[in-house]
Amino acid sequence: MNSLQTKDLNYIWHPCSQMKDYEDFPPIVIDRGKGVFLYDVDGNKYLDAVSSWWVNLFGHSNKRINKAIASQLEKLEHVIFVNFSHEPAIELSERIVGMTPEGLNKVFFADNGSSAVEAALKLSFQYFQQTGKLKKTKFAAITDSYHGETTGALSVNNIDLYSKIYKPILLNTFKVEGPDCFRCKYSLNRDICNAECFEHMEETIKEHHEEIAGVIIEPMVQGAAGMKIYSPIYLKKLRKLCDDYDVHLIADEIAVGFGRTGKMFACEHAGISPDIMCLSKGLTAGYLPLALMLTTDEIYKAFYDEYTSLKAFLHSHSYTGNPIGCAVANETLNIFEDEKVLEKNMVKSRFLKEKAVELLLDHPNVGEFRQLGMIAAVELVKNKETRETFDWKKRVGYKIYRIALKHGVLLRPLGNVIYFMPPYVISEEEIDLMISVARKSINEYFET
Ligand SMILES: *Cc1c(COP(=O)(O)O)cnc(C)c1O
Repeated sequence: MNSLQTKDLNYIWHPCSQMKDYEDFPPIVIDRGKGVFLYDVDGNKYLDAVSSWWVNLFGHSNKRINKAIASQLEKLEHVIFVNFSHEPAIELSERIVGMTPEGLNKVFFADNGSSAVEAALKLSFQYFQQTGKLKKTKFAAITDSYHGETTGALSVNNIDLYSKIYKPILLNTFKVEGPDCFRCKYSLNRDICNAECFEHMEETIKEHHEEIAGVIIEPMVQGAAGMKIYSPIYLKKLRKLCDDYDVHLIADEIAVGFGRTGKMFACEHAGISPDIMCLSKGLTAGYLPLALMLTTDEIYKAFYDEYTSLKAFLHSHSYTGNPIGCAVANETLNIFEDEKVLEKNMVKSRFLKEKAVELLLDHPNVGEFRQLGMIAAVELVKNKETRETFDWKKRVGYKIYRIALKHGVLLRPLGNVIYFMPPYVISEEEIDLMISVARKSINEYFET
């Protein structure tokens, strides 16, 4: 252990970690980053295959974004956002409204994904309080959903690993059986099915709509669940059902927004507009914490009245609408336009697929390869025929992660799912390296 690692462990409690694991696996102290690579203080380099937890789009230390920060910094670092405003936020809001699905016309700022989800839940609840449907006080979410880790957001999480112990202090929400395409109960295939599994949502909403304010969902890909991809027909059906029963559709595009799935926003795959949309992560290309919650004129109007009506949305965060964050977001959108990012990603994602199919699919423990745009994953199974999973206590993914780091690639499996979610600037050669190391690491794990 070097002296920085010793000090780190003296003082720091790392996120999402059992700190005891660090005894024989101390934190890797990163000194600098460039493009898809991270460099540690001991001179090792790592290909960042997970975009530093799904946030980085255009590589570490990107020249254009660095410059945008520097020039904003010369003008204004931050200002209170109530009664005050600034050009970067105004420009960003106009552009975001112009590019997100039809009808999302109002932009509310938050400072991380979870806080945008909190704002969305509060907004939806308050809307119904102010429009006379006082019984609509609950939310629904599907199995394996992930929407952040603050208490409100955790209430609509259905991954036990993160939420189970907290249940006594969480909101009471409806957990609805959602799509599970790799182990489809209907023996169908996500590419050709009619989202038959939607029947569970239909049942819940039909029975409980009087109590349900909103359904929150990760469109197209359930990220933390292990990059579970499902049919856009599910979303189309959900839009219709929500319309029929006056339930808000809350799209959590925090992970899938900004081109991750091949479209700018994942809702576009289904051609739907949600009532509320949450954005963060790629919004600032992996640079700064910033989040947006977008909503419709209809919802906005239910809050618009004389001050004394007490209908305002009294939600705020200290760093709401931070100007440097907004300047980065604006430059991120410039890069999308100037550098034809979505078109280039189409070619890259095709190459990624070819490589993954070629190098990973034949392994006896690779159960499925799945991909949507710049998200690709392989699910490791104990038995390819039965799709039986490994006991979580074996920590298969975690062990492969540690092997891959020795070979210079930062994969960060979710359970038994190894996924690739690289920065968009990744080259074909780097994709090759990323997948080759994944294969080598899987081999090594199963050989020992
Ligand atoms: C990451 C994530 C969040 C939470 O965002 P934070 O910025 O980590 O709080 C919420 N929803 C989804 C789908 C996410 O992937």
